[in-house]
Amino acid sequence: MKNIFSLENKKVLITGSAQGIGFLLAKGLAEQGAEIIVNDITAERAEHAVAQLTAQGYRAYAAPFDVTRCQEVNEAIDGIEKNIGAIDVLINNAGIQRRHPFTEFPENEWNDVIAVNQSAVFFVSQAVARNMVERRAGKIVNICSMQSELGRDTITPYAASKGAVKMLTRGMCVELARYNIQVNGIAPGYFKTEMTKALVENQEFTAWLTKRTPAARWGNPEELIGAAVFLSSGASNFVNGHLLFVDGGMLVAV
Ligand code: NAP
Repeated sequence: MKNIFSLENKKVLITGSAQGIGFLLAKGLAEQGAEIIVNDITAERAEHAVAQLTAQGYRAYAAPFDVTRCQEVNEAIDGIEKNIGAIDVLINNAGIQRRHPFTEFPENEWNDVIAVNQSAVFFVSQAVARNMVERRAGKIVNICSMQSELGRDTITPYAASKGAVKMLTRGMCVELARYNIQVNGIAPGYFKTEMTKALVENQEFTAWLTKRTPAARWGNPEELIGAAVFLSSGASNFVNGHLLFVDGGMLVAV
């Protein structure tokens, strides 16, 4: 039977994929046959990630650029399409977290969070979608968050940015679905990564989390791969504007 989840011969650009969830998704999608274009802000780190992937027999290319700079993004996407090939799937993964009480949140850190988590999704998607529209084919997957729906102490700018990514997902779906482009989001719950290291090590938080989550545990980042494969493959060709929560049931529990 034909493998409807196959990513054979698909080129997938993943932003911020030199480490963390992005790198894990890179490996998971490559396992299904995808060629991975690794973006990161640092060239050295992008190349290091590519070396790790190619050493495991996967096909991968480095595409370092700063996702927050619109012109740099446009030039980088043109370069990828010309030198590596058509981008079949874009995964907007790059993201940052900053924590301060609301009344003390510094302006520059608000600007940084909005630039990386929100504006960059607009810039990169716009540049990539222009070519997808011409080809009448493409998939965009935005990495959202529990905070696309729920607020949380000390991270209001992050929640605002991830709420915006939810609406970017829906807006892009409305405008791009007619060109056979599917735009969806993955909303991870709480996963053990560099970004959450401080929380994982905080016993009080971990006790609260296990009580609050129906699955009663932290997520392992590998558990995001299935959702990414589904939304990047032909298996999701009529799924559009959807946020797939991978959260151990947290969103639906009081
Ligand atoms: P991470 O380990 O910090 O990885 C983020 C990557 O993005 C880093 O490699 C970083 O590069 C890169 N990046 C930052 N700014 C960039 C820029 N301007 N241009 C290009 N690349 C840039 O984070 P993660 O935990 O894997 O998170 C990945 C995504 O999942 C984020 O969107 C995050 O909000 C989301 N998420 C994570 C969790 C979780 O539990 N960890 C939960 C929900 C959602 P440098 O390190 O070199 O700056």
